[in-house]
Amino acid sequence: MTDLRMGAGERSGVRLFSVFGIEIRLDVSVAIIFALIVYSLGAGLFPQWHPDWSPAQYWLTAIGAGLMFFASLLAHELSHSLVAQRFGIRVPRITLFLFGGVAEIESEAETPQAEFAIAIAGPLMSLALGVLFATVASLGFDERTLGLLMEDPQAAMAGIGPGITACLWLGSVNFMLALFNMIPGFPLDGGRVFRAIVWRVTGDHLLASRLASTAGRWFGWSLMALGLWNLLAARNLGGLWLIMIGWFLSHLASASYSQLLTQRTLRSLKVRDVMRSRFDTVPASATVEDFIENYLLRSSQLLWPVTDGARVVGLVALADVSDIPLPERGGMRVSEVMADLARAPVLDADALATRALNALLAAGDAPVAVVREGQVVGLVRGSDVLRWVTLHRDLAREV
Ligand SMILES: [Zn+2]
Repeated sequence: MTDLRMGAGERSGVRLFSVFGIEIRLDVSVAIIFALIVYSLGAGLFPQWHPDWSPAQYWLTAIGAGLMFFASLLAHELSHSLVAQRFGIRVPRITLFLFGGVAEIESEAETPQAEFAIAIAGPLMSLALGVLFATVASLGFDERTLGLLMEDPQAAMAGIGPGITACLWLGSVNFMLALFNMIPGFPLDGGRVFRAIVWRVTGDHLLASRLASTAGRWFGWSLMALGLWNLLAARNLGGLWLIMIGWFLSHLASASYSQLLTQRTLRSLKVRDVMRSRFDTVPASATVEDFIENYLLRSSQLLWPVTDGARVVGLVALADVSDIPLPERGGMRVSEVMADLARAPVLDADALATRALNALLAAGDAPVAVVREGQVVGLVRGSDVLRWVTLHRDLAREV
């Protein structure tokens, strides 16, 4: 179980409710992990602890404990989010999914101190919940059963009720969550704490991120190796789970570092610096047939500025003409099918390239026209910006 924090994520699953201005969502994959937890408690752990319980008692306690487990995860994420909000960073939503929770913290912390505080808040919450559940659980044991716990755990456990049983499990699970998340590899909380410390000591954010990301990749690979060993040598299917989490963590560790490199490479650039300034136009008076045969099919350009004299008045793309039946294309003008420039989605030439990249990638890499003072001066796609970044990586290292 882990928790991750990302930029703009996709909005999957169902919306539960909002709290502190943060939307809480549930991904469908939560059903899988919930079923796994309830099954392992109801059919495994609880019957072992309480051979005398009825099936209804096992399953109801298991469902209750499962729900409280997700409430604990949510508390962990909320705790990151509220600290982030205190540092003025927006958190639009938290999504619970297969591997835990994701709080979408909109931007990176600006100082190592803020990064440290935001990162440590989650594990501290899990630790506090662990102490809380363990304390409540301890109330269920009197002196006699507590003494018995060491000699004959079976007999000691047999006497305690469903509520205390659930608290005992929740206490240990929250302690484990706190511990696991403090492993010093990105993107785990411990990796962020580690990065904040290296950043504070060296003053080098990029170096700190690279070290934390490398540690995260190593940790992910170790989990995968452990999972493989579990699967092959110990013939334990639980190994598959470790392999999945390990792969997921190592993938995110590398992805987050290259995302940071991208942001730093682009930080001082405007859209006009990364756009394609060489493009062709099509006159508004051209027929659709002429446009398709002599422009669209003769070039790799996807979006075409439409000109009326020297002025660009609209934009036309494949999607605007593909549905027009062949016989009608000769009698129809481009001006009739184009999108009006005033109403088409465009980017300002002076907008920040980092902001534009998010919008462009969200648009599925479709090209967007770049305008300055009402005139189209270029075209840009998300992949153009990424290509630009690949060829200018060294800029990230200049401060
Ligand atoms: Zn966390």
